[in-house]
Formats: sequence, C-alpha cells, structure tokens
Amino acid sequence: MRDYSFGNFLHELRSRRGLTQYQLGALVGVSDKAVSKWENGFSKPQRNILYKLSEVLGISVDELLTCKYRSTEQKDAKGVFAMKKQLWNKAFTAMRERYGDPVPVEIENRMLTEQTEMQDTDVIVYFDLLSVLATEAQKQGEHIRVRGGTGASFVAYLLGATEIDPLPPHHYCPDCHTVIFDRNANDGWDLPQRKCPCGKEMKADGHHIPFETYRHVVQRNTSFDIAMSPHFWQMAKTVVTEYFKHCDVTASEREKDRVITYTVASDRSGCAFTLLADAEFEKYRALERATATAFERVSFSQPEVLDEFRCGNTDGIPEFGTNFCKDMIRETSPRSFHDLIQIAGLSHGTGVWGDNARDLIGQGVPLGSVIAYRDDVFLHVETRLLTRGIANTGYAYRIMEDTRRGIYARDGVSDETKKQLKELEVEDWFADSIGRIRYLFPKAHGVTYVKLAATLMWYKIHYPEEFHEIM
Ligand SMILES: [Zn+2]
Repeated sequence: MRDYSFGNFLHELRSRRGLTQYQLGALVGVSDKAVSKWENGFSKPQRNILYKLSEVLGISVDELLTCKYRSTEQKDAKGVFAMKKQLWNKAFTAMRERYGDPVPVEIENRMLTEQTEMQDTDVIVYFDLLSVLATEAQKQGEHIRVRGGTGASFVAYLLGATEIDPLPPHHYCPDCHTVIFDRNANDGWDLPQRKCPCGKEMKADGHHIPFETYRHVVQRNTSFDIAMSPHFWQMAKTVVTEYFKHCDVTASEREKDRVITYTVASDRSGCAFTLLADAEFEKYRALERATATAFERVSFSQPEVLDEFRCGNTDGIPEFGTNFCKDMIRETSPRSFHDLIQIAGLSHGTGVWGDNARDLIGQGVPLGSVIAYRDDVFLHVETRLLTRGIANTGYAYRIMEDTRRGIYARDGVSDETKKQLKELEVEDWFADSIGRIRYLFPKAHGVTYVKLAATLMWYKIHYPEEFHEIM
C-alpha cells in the first residue's frame, strides 16, 4: 500500500526550506530519484538516512516518523533560527553546484571568510527569507530590490537573496563548471565572450565587492530594506508572517506609507526586516507586459546600451536622468559598465565628486581608478598590502571605515597614516582624496542601480514607444 502521509510531510519540509529534490538528496547522500520515491510514497528512507534527514531539515526523528510537529511551545524558543546549519549546508551545496567540486580555492576561501564572520549571527536566516520573497515575487511576475550592501555577501548571492555576484570578474561554464578569473578586468559585465575548453559558451559575472564592506552590517544591528510594488507588498506581508510563524515577531506597520518593519525577539543579530511599497515597480511590470519581455531575459551588457549612456540619452532612466548625472556623464565619457558603476557611486557620495574625483579626472586619473565607493578604498589599500606580502586586511578595513565615516574629512589624515600610506606606495592623490570624503556609497548598491538602469536602457532602445508611454 502506498503511504502518502510521510511523503507529503517530507515534501512540505523540503519546500519550506527551498531545497530541490536533488539538493536534499545531496545533503543526505542519496539521489534525487530516491527523494522523489519517498515523496510519492513508493518507499521510505532507511533509519541511518532518517537521522541525516532530521538534521538537515531541523526536525526530530520522532516528528519525522509521526509526520507531525511536536507542540509549538517547544518550537517557539528557536523557530526558524534553528535552521541555520541547514542554510549553511544549502549555501555550500549551491556553491559546488555552480563552481564544481572541488571549487577553486579563491571561491572556497571567500565562503569560509563569510562563514567565520557570520556564524555567530542570524543574518543567514534573513538571506533565506529574502530568497523566499524573491522566488515568490518571480512566480507572480513581480520584482523586489534589496537596498544597501547585501550584494557584498557571496552567501547572499548563492542563496538567491541578491542578484549581485561579489566575486572578482570571471567567466564560468554552466555546463562543466570551469571558472576563469580575469585579473585585469574591472567588472564582469565588461568581459568579452569566451568559449570554455569544453566547447560551451561561458558566462561572465563578478563585480569585485569585498565582504569587508558588509562586515559592519553583519556585526551590528542592521535592517534589510526591501522595495516592491504596492500590489506585491500585500502578498509579501503574508510570506514574511508565514516564514516567522513559529517566532515571536513584532510588526510595526504604517499602512498610509505602505511600510512595515518586522523584528524577531529570538534573533540574536537584532535585525529588522522592512518591506516598502514603491509605485515605480508597477511601471516595470507594465513595461514587461507591453513588450512581452521579462527583465530576466534582457541581456543589457551590450555596446549599444553603453553608447546611449555615453551620449547622455538618459531621460527616464532612474539615477542617470538627473542634470547632475548628465553633466557627470558629459565630463567623464563612460566607456564601460565599470565606468557607469563608478558614476553611480560618485553621484551618491558626499565630498566624492566635486572638489575631489572631478578634479582628479581632469588631471588625468582615469574614471575607473578614482574613489567612487567604500569598496574602492579597501581594495586599493589591500592590493598594496598584498604586494608587500601582508595578508592582514585589518589595516585596509580601518582606512575604509575612517574614510566612509568622514573622519579624515573632519580631523584630517594624520601624519602617521600619511607616512604608512607612503610606505605602501599609495599614490598622493589617493591620500588627498580620502581626506575630502564625507560619505561613501556601498558598491553593491551602486551595481544594483546600474543593473536596473541598463536594463531599462535596453527597453528604451528596443521598444522606444512602449518605454516613452510607460516610463
Ligand atoms: Zn565547460
């Protein structure tokens, strides 16, 4: 007789964690076919596998066998936060599925660095929730956009919490999982097409965003701000409530502004999770419908898209359509997607463009080299440290933090720091530049802006009528 109850229960547990049959199978050491058989009631897992399932799914063997949860009082203390270990497993599995097994050392090292920094926090749970929201949005033909620096986390990227790949620029093969880093490139969107040794066309990505720019967020109370259409905002509230149903959650809602913030009592990171309704998203949906082309299908990293930006045809393009930005484009003449990303950073910082990068570019420093983001400060100093065989990133981190907080602009760069930077052969213009900066944007946020702007520019070129009507 076929036993459906265990299968249904297992299916629910697996779906709630966002695992495919293949992923769950990989975590407990069986094939996806075996998982499918369990869920369809054709067979049951052996006892040793049950133990693994209970660990992976964060549920007791007793609950698995009886196919029901124990009283909720016992769950309340931990709720969804008991899943952390499984989420880390999920991220590692996703890493190996995409970059092969074993993965290149550079990638594994990035992963382990983030794990070390994050494992005592609950941030990964919020990444998981972001990915649940993103999946639900996609099902509904909607979009969400996470504000801030979440794209600086490789784990967030692997879990589907952000579309921004923070690795250095690289090609990867979707077929045989070969990865080739390009040390000379500034950005993955600027990499040329390349064929894999296996014969398949490779994909290019990576924006060189160090995790260190996100470290302060992970270590202190933080808030995740997620923007979406007013229509999806209503649904998203249900998704979040369902996700935290076993937790003690406080929701403070400002219905009029369509903003709701959740805080979870048992969350040791003290994170807040805020959903914001933004009417702009309705336009994106309308544009996709009118052109029968979803954002995901747009391959925007094309020369004609860059040309439009360089010519200053940016009316109606978010972040790039202002006179301030148009002037900046005219003066800097962006020639790559990395240049566009630089402009997004320069236009959002304080003390970064005027009386700073603008003059430097006038004196011949390339647009791609000036400080546009806090990430640039870190990488610039870190590169010099590494050249001298100093692997400790603490110094680069401090210079970045003091710059982005405007401490040098307020108190001046100390003689000691100036001397150290000279020792590292950091250029004079760089030391001068950090002394003028009062606020620096996170690169992950700038890349998110450029992705949206370039996507919309693609529509503007290919569907001008629909674009002008809707935007
Ligand atoms: Zn290949």
